[in-house]
Amino acid sequence: MTQHVQCPAVVVHCMDFRFRGFLNRHFDERFPEGYDLVSLAGGIKSLIEDGQIDNFELRQLQLSDRLHHPSVIVLVQHEDCGAYGGSKGFQEADQELNFQGQELAKAKILLQEQLPNHKIETYFIRLSGEMVSLPG
Ligand SMILES: [Zn+2]
Repeated sequence: MTQHVQCPAVVVHCMDFRFRGFLNRHFDERFPEGYDLVSLAGGIKSLIEDGQIDNFELRQLQLSDRLHHPSVIVLVQHEDCGAYGGSKGFQEADQELNFQGQELAKAKILLQEQLPNHKIETYFIRLSGEMVSLPG
């Protein structure tokens, strides 16, 4: 007998330890039944950098989809991400937020092509733990 294994969401966020507590609490509360997690340096950076069709990060998401059928893909970028040179590369906080918003929009377009029929949510998390929802 084949068992259908399903989780509600797959979450993509950076490996940065400073956000782990905030993110774990947030998503444990939102998805108490659990969720798949792809945690790589830079969050979505390698997804949109490594090529459009076949890259390691995309394959993780495709695997999650095939094994656990999440209906929601949640992308979280964060403040002061070392993979992007940190906050010091931006003049003001809003610039960093806007930049990460553009990165998230690129990832969303790619994922809409590669994994259609998923709801894609995009967020920016600040060092304070505040999560800002972005249109993506
Ligand atoms: Zn980071």
